[in-house]
Amino acid sequence: MVLKLLKKERLLSFLERLMQKFLLVAPVREGNLTVYRPVKAAAEVAVDAPKSVVPPKEWFFPQTEEIYRYATSKENLVLEENVLAPPAVLFGVRPCDLRSFQVLDAVFLQEPADRYYAARRENTLLIGMSCNTACPECFCTAYGISPLKGTGADIHLTDIGTAYLVEALTPKGEEIVLQDPEFYEEKVAGIDEALRAKEQALTAEFAVQVAVTDLPAKMAALFNHPYWEELSRRCLGCGICTYVCPTCHCFDITDENRGNTGKRLRCWDACLFRDYTLHTSGHNPRHALHQRLRNRFFHKLKYNLDRYGIEGCVGCGRCVALCPVNIDIREVIATVRGLQV
Ligand code: SF4
Ligand code: SF4
Repeated sequence: MVLKLLKKERLLSFLERLMQKFLLVAPVREGNLTVYRPVKAAAEVAVDAPKSVVPPKEWFFPQTEEIYRYATSKENLVLEENVLAPPAVLFGVRPCDLRSFQVLDAVFLQEPADRYYAARRENTLLIGMSCNTACPECFCTAYGISPLKGTGADIHLTDIGTAYLVEALTPKGEEIVLQDPEFYEEKVAGIDEALRAKEQALTAEFAVQVAVTDLPAKMAALFNHPYWEELSRRCLGCGICTYVCPTCHCFDITDENRGNTGKRLRCWDACLFRDYTLHTSGHNPRHALHQRLRNRFFHKLKYNLDRYGIEGCVGCGRCVALCPVNIDIREVIATVRGLQV
């Protein structure tokens, strides 16, 4: 691993240098929201912006994606595939969102890999950014995520006052750091101690401490508990929690036809919607809202772990902050752990 310091006043020049070779996708402010978008100038990047509402997974798995175009005639069907994967840098990804890419990789890169996702993943350099504050809804440490660690990034930056600690964590990241030595200074003594103190202070900021020990086994035993029905009485089935979740990955395929030509699109879907499991026969195995809400929590906290060995939640707290009726996954976890089997 290569460790360097990058003075804060050099960050924009560093990003501009990257933009000579890559499309830069970074957090920007749109109104009072943070979103990840391709930028035209490094000055657009909102380096210290609060966590984005829609997670950066959008770059790898867009909300709506054209898969291919088609044209039909009596004799022929012509398909034109559209895999858009320019060389890109995804900058400023927080540790919880970095973990979410491991969750998505397990799904999209298992054989046969999803080539749209795989191509963008392959062509994107990931630059992570440690957190400076913990939002009231954050609980990433419940899943062993450190708000200061860049696991999964190629390069990770941590704010240490007047400079960033730059960690090049993969060969791809090392190549980028080593090719422009003029940007960096050598790491100075005392940084490790400062980082440990910062990590402790940040962890102490978490409003709610969440424990997930033994949760999957507990959930399995509580599948038919009336708690899920009680909880669902508040739920609107709006799907906001799934749309803002960095690990949700369900999609629907739809065709937009215009005469003999058209586009095939894939669009985010949500397991909270009634139509999500509706069969063409009219049967719906999850016809009741409590079944769908229960499925969401089971998927995050048990099924994903059973299937891929990694939780389907990263503790980003977006669903906590944005659910219009205050359904809070931290409370669900605590309630489930406290229920009698
Ligand atoms: S955001 Fe809240 S109300 Fe909407 S579907 Fe999710 S849990 Fe239900
Ligand atoms: S379930 Fe909620 S807290 Fe967990 S990763 Fe998804 S949005 Fe974040």
